[in-house]
Amino acid sequence: MSKKFVYLFSEGNGKMRELLGGKGANLAEMTNLGLPVPQGFTITTEACTQYYEDGEKINDDIQAQIMEYIGKMEEIVGKKFGDLENPLLVSVRSGARASMPGMMDTILNLGLNEEVVEVMAKKSGNPRWAYDCYRRFIQMYSDVVMEVGKKYFEELIDAMKEKKGVTMDTELTADDLKELAEQFKAEYKEKIGQDFPSDPKEQLMGAVKAVFRSWDNPRANVYRRMNDIPYSWGTAVNVQMMAFGNMGETSGTGVAFTRNPATGEKKLFGEFLMNAQGEDVVAGVRTPQTIDQLAEVMPDCYNQFVEICHTLENHYRDMQDMEFTIEDKKLYMLQTRNGKRTAAAALKIACDLVDEGMISEKEAVLMIDPRTLDSLLHPQFDAAALKKAAPIASALAASPGAACGKIVFTADDAKEWAEKGEKVVLVRLETSPEDIEGMVAAQGILTVRGGMTSHAAVVARGMGTCCVSGCGEIKMDEENKQFELGGKVYHEGDYISLDGSTGAIYGEAIPTVEASISGEFGRIMAWADKYRALKVRTNADNPRDAKQARSFGAEGIGLCRTEHMFFEADRIPAIREMICSDTVEQREKALAKLLPMQQGDFEAMYEAMEGNPITIRFLDPPLHEFVPTDEADIELLAKDMNKSVADIKAIISSLHEFNPMMGHRGCRLAVTYPEIAAMQTRAVMQAALAVKAKHPDWDMVPEIMIPLVGEVKELAYVKSVVVETADAVLAEAGSDMQYKVGTMIEIPRAALTADEIAKEAEFFSFGTNDLTQMTFGFSRDDAGKFLDAYYDKKIYENDPFAKLDQVGVGKLVKMAAELGRSTRPDLKLGICGEHGGDPSSVEFCHKVGLNYVSCSPFRVPIARLAAAQAALKD
Ligand code: PEP
Ligand code: MG
Repeated sequence: MSKKFVYLFSEGNGKMRELLGGKGANLAEMTNLGLPVPQGFTITTEACTQYYEDGEKINDDIQAQIMEYIGKMEEIVGKKFGDLENPLLVSVRSGARASMPGMMDTILNLGLNEEVVEVMAKKSGNPRWAYDCYRRFIQMYSDVVMEVGKKYFEELIDAMKEKKGVTMDTELTADDLKELAEQFKAEYKEKIGQDFPSDPKEQLMGAVKAVFRSWDNPRANVYRRMNDIPYSWGTAVNVQMMAFGNMGETSGTGVAFTRNPATGEKKLFGEFLMNAQGEDVVAGVRTPQTIDQLAEVMPDCYNQFVEICHTLENHYRDMQDMEFTIEDKKLYMLQTRNGKRTAAAALKIACDLVDEGMISEKEAVLMIDPRTLDSLLHPQFDAAALKKAAPIASALAASPGAACGKIVFTADDAKEWAEKGEKVVLVRLETSPEDIEGMVAAQGILTVRGGMTSHAAVVARGMGTCCVSGCGEIKMDEENKQFELGGKVYHEGDYISLDGSTGAIYGEAIPTVEASISGEFGRIMAWADKYRALKVRTNADNPRDAKQARSFGAEGIGLCRTEHMFFEADRIPAIREMICSDTVEQREKALAKLLPMQQGDFEAMYEAMEGNPITIRFLDPPLHEFVPTDEADIELLAKDMNKSVADIKAIISSLHEFNPMMGHRGCRLAVTYPEIAAMQTRAVMQAALAVKAKHPDWDMVPEIMIPLVGEVKELAYVKSVVVETADAVLAEAGSDMQYKVGTMIEIPRAALTADEIAKEAEFFSFGTNDLTQMTFGFSRDDAGKFLDAYYDKKIYENDPFAKLDQVGVGKLVKMAAELGRSTRPDLKLGICGEHGGDPSSVEFCHKVGLNYVSCSPFRVPIARLAAAQAALKD
């Protein structure tokens, strides 16, 4: 028997989201709960993957199953496709396993043709409605299925409005709309070269294909990459009987959340529009009414809706995001899903659900997306500066947080300026899914149109980006890249600040301050800490970052990059002197200058970490980052070193490397110049002794980490220098302090010979930045230039420098962990590459038995939560 590719809503259930997609599974579940759902069927995600396997074709078997289910659906709903008595119209909507709002395509009112529209017009006694549906359908079908641009149809509508002397679509009469439908069809024929299809079954097949195709559109691909959604999942397609919200003033449509998605407050939150279809609400074309107002407009429907909200929330034990339509006073539920929410709302809702006895602490920990925490950790406005500033306007507080940046008007500019290091605020009439990359790049988003459920608001909340929407007071002049607000003209590049929590807009730059962990955030984090096995450390190389990370819960430092301690203008001369020395004496002289700086830094770091362990990584400077290139710097160095400028230039040119990343860096430096390792060891040990003297109760065990090791003998050599120096320092001080010498595993050869390396190393820390670079053979600095082509061609779905490649690089990590522990069963294992703060990579680290992850300070809470989720999923 062939595989089943189509399910009636009554055949599925809420647990089948892999096969039916989120929307399909929930429509089935609502059907099972006896809720008023317009009936229909779901074409599975497997049909979508099959479509791609078959070279973007819906094969005969799937087509036959769809046809069979049209028959079943017609029987259930008592209407028929193309019937002149009782015609069936359907919506065709995408629905992947994970919701991807606005990323894929939808077609409404499918099933209309010239005859059917006449029947509908007559039978309903509402010809305006019938022709409105028809022109909408032709427009959507042409745009989504046949990819005739929307703009041609919008131009025709505008021309019609002008001809009739009206401003709103709703003022067009039945005859106007009928004429528009004719014009649309003519436009279609001109662009496509064929008549608009009148057979509803042909229309349906075209629409299903378009939804499958939309799985692969550029905005969906970007969204998936941002949200870790695999391409291989595919989307399901839901074919559902239409319920009409545009039948007149007793009809309407809306979206609502059972709790506030911005704050988490336990109160119904949503919007609706009378006499409208779904896309009118989401597109922000007309400004909707709030859901409370429905109680006055249609009390019965409102009460029934409130009841359904309770049922759904109790059933799913989570905040629901629902779409509904009222067709001539009858309520229909079109969709429910766990609602997208801001990070702050997510924390509040999770805590409230625990307090209400709906879920357990563990479930609360599992329901927060760790990546969203980022938005809570980012700056808020400095309170004093904010007090002094006066808003120039206020609009909808669509997504919280504070944003300050230079005004740009297009998504492309936002991306370009951000790449140049500018902070930008994207100001648009309204956003659309094509703007996604610009929205990611912007600090904040301001729109002229659109409500709380407009595209800008929904997407910004999902990303944790500040957004203020619907500021109708703005007089926008996109062409000249300027707008007028509060009597002043703002140009591209001018500063603006947005408060996404209050909706206030400021025509000036307002400084921002760091956030802290408290309240519900603290509660969730405490629960996370209870359940995780992995420790979480931070990568920090200055006391400020160390303190920041500590306040976010870091349990130590997993990587202190000592070369980063010399970037400041007053320090870099000393390290340059060291690099450009051509005798041991000269080098030791330079090192003597560096020693007190290093020791002071290390002491401050130990203090900041309050006795928690610190792994200090010895110098690993790619030389090109340090040698002077500027004439003045070269002259200064010559003077400092008592050498001629020509001599210095000769040294610099002798240091030139063709591939500095693979050059004289890491432990290779200590092999050629052991005095560097000796100086650093002295600085570490003396700092530890000094801090121990101040804090006798702190358990000080310095961890010295040798980078870029590929061969055990190389490690053994550098370690011998470290041990000799450390033991000498301890002997001088008469101390019996313990210390550890370990290594980074960041060269494939080290991973392959980890059993040998572990004979010398007392701990391993996986440097997955270099390990990724060297395993793929991609330069860390250059890969960005060509990776886009790899994403486009689906060769890679993610940046391997951001998300650990578990198949290849991960295999090396796992193998090295096992080999290392075969030699030294108590070997401590950690990771300090960028992946240490990426949730899916953290889960991998948990699975392969690492002891800790180490990540940048702002990702510490993310890693704590991800580690707990990994443990709970185990
Ligand atoms: C690494 O390679 O993963 C690492 C942490 O070291 P760095 O980024 O300093 O090379
Ligand atoms: Mg490295």
